[in-house]
Amino acid sequence: MSARTYRAIAEHIETLPVVSSHEHHLEDADQNALTLERILQCSYVDWQGISVGESDSDHDRFLDQARHNSYYVWLEKALDRIYRIGGKLTARNWRNLSAGISHTHSDPEAHLRILREHCRYRYALADVYWNTGSDLGHPDLFKPVVRTDMFVAGFHPSVEDHDGNSPWRFLHLDGLTFDGYVELLNEFLRNSVKNGAVAFKLAAAYERTLALGTGSYDRAARIFMKPPADTTEEERLVYGDYIFRVTCGIASELGIPYQVHTGLGRLQGSNPLLLEPVIERYPDIVFVLFHGGYPWIHETGALAHNHPNVHLDMVWLPLISTSAALQALHEYIEVVPSSDRIAWGGDCWTSEESLGALLAYQHVVASVLAEKVDGSYFDLAEARLLAEKLLYRNAQNLYS
Ligand SMILES: [Zn+2]
Repeated sequence: MSARTYRAIAEHIETLPVVSSHEHHLEDADQNALTLERILQCSYVDWQGISVGESDSDHDRFLDQARHNSYYVWLEKALDRIYRIGGKLTARNWRNLSAGISHTHSDPEAHLRILREHCRYRYALADVYWNTGSDLGHPDLFKPVVRTDMFVAGFHPSVEDHDGNSPWRFLHLDGLTFDGYVELLNEFLRNSVKNGAVAFKLAAAYERTLALGTGSYDRAARIFMKPPADTTEEERLVYGDYIFRVTCGIASELGIPYQVHTGLGRLQGSNPLLLEPVIERYPDIVFVLFHGGYPWIHETGALAHNHPNVHLDMVWLPLISTSAALQALHEYIEVVPSSDRIAWGGDCWTSEESLGALLAYQHVVASVLAEKVDGSYFDLAEARLLAEKLLYRNAQNLYS
């Protein structure tokens, strides 16, 4: 790709608004307490599992090990963009940066300003899994998503989903029969949509297989409230299948897109191809497959090629592996029948990391479109229009 084409597209992209299909943005109080250490702790860098430590030599050791992974690379670029650290975080500028972050966030609006001004977010979808359906008190910037995992997992008050949530604590179900529970769940989902939720989200691939069957009301009713030690794996799956079916009934009735985490969960059950029967069962529900299904980026492309109700979301993928995201976007542009069906989200807890995720995605979009222009796949005017779809138009149209 020529540097000139890349620059022409990148400069256009930097003027565009952004709609993020997915964030886990923390509450105001957590944002106001941010330091460098907290930002790292609340980022994917923490998933690298390398201790940050406290002394200069700890920091040196941490940076030496962590800094080549793409989670780290893009967060550092964002910190440099906001706090001007001379391009590189070192043990020497560590404390200064942490103090600068703390000072910035002593202004309670700082985290919102970074999203609006640095990221140019028009709005973001908030998957607030610890209080699902919340707009974080900023309805102008965050549209809520309803996370359905705890309902799919929780057949008994002692069972939590992988984020520690339980329908019993969330909806106060004490004394309800299964019938009454299903009715309440239907009501909760309907009310959430009435109150502004624009999507459902299933992240169950972290705890079960994506091979979601149809379940059965009678069997689910028998498993409801059964002591977990007396249940089999098969029973727990059947229960989840039935509850997922209930949520699909509402998604279908209300025309709500269903976002599904695919790939990088429990790897033996998170291959996006396992979802094909569900995709076929509900042709009127838009299933948004997240993360390019990494590592199964081709499988998600094939699903979108074959099923008009599949949309692909690049969310998190440029942070997981920038080069896999480049390959995926090249392929998605070619294979997805309509370019209306590709979008992106940040998937972050802090505005700093959201900016890093956005910088990664902008780089991916500019690189891929530049290569397509230089290879005469389409022209520069077309590339600019497609960039607008990829950065905000598609997400805006889907989640309105
Ligand atoms: Zn997420």
